[in-house]
Amino acid sequence: MRTVQVYLEDSYLRELEAEVVEIIDGVVLDRTIFYAASGGQPTDTGSMVGSATYEVKEVAKREEIIHKTEPLPSLGERVKLIIDWDRRYMHMRQHTAIHVVSSIAMKEFGAMITGNQIGMEYSRIDFNFKDWNSEISHSLQARVNEELRRNQDVSVLSMKRDDILKMDGALKVDERLLPTSDVLRVVKIGDVDMQPDGGTHVKNTSEVGEIEIYKIENKGKNNKRMYFTIQR
Ligand SMILES: [Zn+2]
Repeated sequence: MRTVQVYLEDSYLRELEAEVVEIIDGVVLDRTIFYAASGGQPTDTGSMVGSATYEVKEVAKREEIIHKTEPLPSLGERVKLIIDWDRRYMHMRQHTAIHVVSSIAMKEFGAMITGNQIGMEYSRIDFNFKDWNSEISHSLQARVNEELRRNQDVSVLSMKRDDILKMDGALKVDERLLPTSDVLRVVKIGDVDMQPDGGTHVKNTSEVGEIEIYKIENKGKNNKRMYFTIQR
């Protein structure tokens, strides 16, 4: 992949100068701050400003990161990237929240997480748990908010794959779903969660605010889907 994913180093950059290095069925840049949908986090939207304004409607990660724009810029054009910050920042807050919810649900309530989806209005987590009830939802919510209020720093580390595999509880997904590289990006949230992750997060749990679990759906015998919101 030719594009430097600047958001992996700095999730808070809202604007960046870049160059169009290829046009496939969208725009490939030398570097980008646009997050391409993956790991449950939706794509960033926004615009590129060069000799005209190109609206960025979707960003896809394939062999290259493809920015779908309307209209298309020209090859070699210098553009200023501007992301829709309200959207991105909500995704960052929701993403950090989802890690804290998943970690507590797993460690303290024994729920096995099977999937998740981050959104602007709410996020949802799929998990295995036989007899879930509203009391468990309430205790989980209280525990998560307690951890969020502790103002825990969120840091991004590089760790060797082998070391991660040896660590208790760091692997929350099947090993085969991890990137194949020897060194992985790991997101650590204070002492509450640590896992390989390619998403964008806030710097401190105080930025998340409080969560509210407002719905649990049955998705088969042992499968549940939990929905939560965070304050705007
Ligand atoms: Zn994540």
